[in-house]
Amino acid sequence: MELEVIIGLEIHAEMNTKTKMFCSCSNDNFGKIPNTNVCPICMGFPGTLPVPNKESIRKGGVAALALHCQIQPHSKFDRKNYFYPDLPTGYQISQFDEPISKNGWLEISLNGEKKKIGITRLHLENDAGKLTHGSAGTLLDFNRAGKPLMEIVSDPDLRSAKEAKEYAETVQKLVRYCDSSDCDMEKGQMRFDASVSLRPVGDTKLYPRAEIKNLNSFRSLESAIDYEIKRQGELWEKDEAPSIETTVGWDELKGQTYLMREKESAADYRYFPEPDLPPIDISEAELAEWLKEVPEAPGEKMDRFMKDYAMSEIEARFLAEDGTYAKLFEATATATKNPKTAASFIGTVLPSHLKEANKTLAESGLTAAHFTELIQLIDAGTISNNTAKTTVFDEMMLSAKMPKAIVEEKGLAQVSDTGAIEALCKAAMEANPAAVADVKAGKTKAMAALVGYVMKESKGQANPPLVNSILEKLLV
Ligand SMILES: [Zn+2]
Repeated sequence: MELEVIIGLEIHAEMNTKTKMFCSCSNDNFGKIPNTNVCPICMGFPGTLPVPNKESIRKGGVAALALHCQIQPHSKFDRKNYFYPDLPTGYQISQFDEPISKNGWLEISLNGEKKKIGITRLHLENDAGKLTHGSAGTLLDFNRAGKPLMEIVSDPDLRSAKEAKEYAETVQKLVRYCDSSDCDMEKGQMRFDASVSLRPVGDTKLYPRAEIKNLNSFRSLESAIDYEIKRQGELWEKDEAPSIETTVGWDELKGQTYLMREKESAADYRYFPEPDLPPIDISEAELAEWLKEVPEAPGEKMDRFMKDYAMSEIEARFLAEDGTYAKLFEATATATKNPKTAASFIGTVLPSHLKEANKTLAESGLTAAHFTELIQLIDAGTISNNTAKTTVFDEMMLSAKMPKAIVEEKGLAQVSDTGAIEALCKAAMEANPAAVADVKAGKTKAMAALVGYVMKESKGQANPPLVNSILEKLLV
């Protein structure tokens, strides 16, 4: 029997607001001593009242718009009731039947093919605390409790683990572009639940799925889905297709999923409208403000770079992927009117120097002004491309000094004095009679030896086009 894979993804992304979702505790708890970033509200003490964080509603709204979702003018918060030790209130504040946004889509690109993935909804909720299981028992840290999350639920449109991974990566880029979440996987700021089921090809109904909970890397997302497809495929082959929905976990070490429980339905959570919070009403004016913040999507930017700057797909993908690089490139390309060199310096030279120096772009202190000045020096013939890439760039990486100052300090300006170069060219011809004879006999490749001699004697500072033209004149 030929089977088709059906995957839907829930993505939880922690929003990068200043404070938690319903209290004024800091939203930055990374590296803090456990249970020091808490207050009576996020600890669920009796008599306290939550206050919605406006910034998180806006950040969620902007991300929803970027995912082409429709913002609902009226939505509300609900209590999702379940008992779990990391949930101090005994319920999570989420959105049930009236989420802030629904009906969106996202285009993904896999092996050059584009596909639209439907998005059921993006809603807002708060995070739980963190349990650490050790040999001495279980430790509880509530620093994370109450942090603002957006949950992005896809339609069951994904057909392979690779597609699911590509979709998750595309969401990550887009949400980062919106500045709604940093989506740092290392810090647990982005987590996935993947629902996987199979069905005979041609069938249109959905069969009971297994929901793989809490995947926290792209690699585990892909491996866990692949494992689940294989496991369920074998059951179908034995005519024992899953008959009930299940919740499973992923054991990274064993590389397999394990049964956690039969899946809860919405009824198990006894959702009811959160009595302590007013509904969310979004005005036309607010929506218009959010729309202004929606950035160009990375995919659209990539297509535009390829078209406007005649870039290759690889080059455009790299520069469009990260909002900071994209901005740096566009500012430099506009200022220098030399997009080709800007793309090469920002897309190739910069990343390799950063890697070597083990620095981030922010740590390097390099800005569009640095790149603009550097490229202008090359275009004016003051320094060669090679000097720019090596000596000047090395110093820029070290001190973040401006290129002009570096060139002056180190005396790197190219020699464009015709007389001095002509003297060096003549010396080169005297030292290489064989090369001179070869060039005169039409073997133009022999020119390289002569140019090389001049460059070496001038310590790389002779202007190469000038050297070539003088040699050509002398060799006639
Ligand atoms: Zn708090």
